[in-house]
Amino acid sequence: MEGKVRIGFYALTSCYGCQLRFAMMDEILQLLPNAEIVCWYMLDRDSSEDEPVDIAFIEGSVSTEEEVELVKKIRENAKIVVAVGACATQGGVQSWEKDKSLEELWKAVYGDGKVKFEPKMAEPLENYIKVDYRIYGCPPEKKDFIYAIGTFLVGSWPEDIDYPVCLECRLKGNTCILIEKGEPCLGPITRAGCDARCPSYGIACIGCRGAIGYDVAWFDSLARTFKEKGLTKEEILERMKIFNAHNPKLEEMVDKVFQFQGVKE
Ligand code: SF4
Ligand code: SF4
Ligand code: SF4
Repeated sequence: MEGKVRIGFYALTSCYGCQLRFAMMDEILQLLPNAEIVCWYMLDRDSSEDEPVDIAFIEGSVSTEEEVELVKKIRENAKIVVAVGACATQGGVQSWEKDKSLEELWKAVYGDGKVKFEPKMAEPLENYIKVDYRIYGCPPEKKDFIYAIGTFLVGSWPEDIDYPVCLECRLKGNTCILIEKGEPCLGPITRAGCDARCPSYGIACIGCRGAIGYDVAWFDSLARTFKEKGLTKEEILERMKIFNAHNPKLEEMVDKVFQFQGVKE
């Protein structure tokens, strides 16, 4: 990329936690000799979403018809699109109950309240546009943002993490709360990178960084372990869906565990 790299940061339906985390980073200032921030409402209310950019960082889930159009426009105007955070990469915790109807969910949260926009079920970015890179977490780690943007700025491509939270957890010498206490920790199927934050405080992982690649996330193996610890199928699905409701393999893999009982002694 010649000259300054043009960067945009856009928000869909979200808590704004991802961009707040990045906006508070001192390191942002160090980007300025090499990057121009073209659009970032949190930093500049005069930003325009119509400007072409080299890298578009998008936070939030696609949750309105207006946002469907917005993400298509951002995609057309950007060379690289980066989905930022659990909302953009996995549809976020707001996708947890995606099997219910929009009407039912709307009633539970807003009652008879009306809005100016046209709401829809929350979905990850990739359901509408091509996503080139993903920064995971709720919110993501600062180091992931620095790594991604730094790598793009030198004209290279950042790596993805393909190992689970358990690896970082064991390296820290934590006691395994799944094995020792029987708590339903999602560390074995969740993408590492948070330095096993929750288990390090004795709290079971709920999978905010999303399942490791769909072909290697062994929902079935973990479901079998949870079942042995006494969880029902509904409890297992509810837990695994907190941040993985859009995962196409989850239900099928958990189903298998309850359909086939294996060899009994
Ligand atoms: S991923 Fe988490 S922190 Fe980021 S916008 Fe969504 S809810 Fe907020
Ligand atoms: S506590 Fe959770 S993340 Fe840590 S090793 Fe056990 S299952 Fe894995
Ligand atoms: S341990 Fe799990 S829930 Fe906690 S920050 Fe890491 S990925 Fe997210």
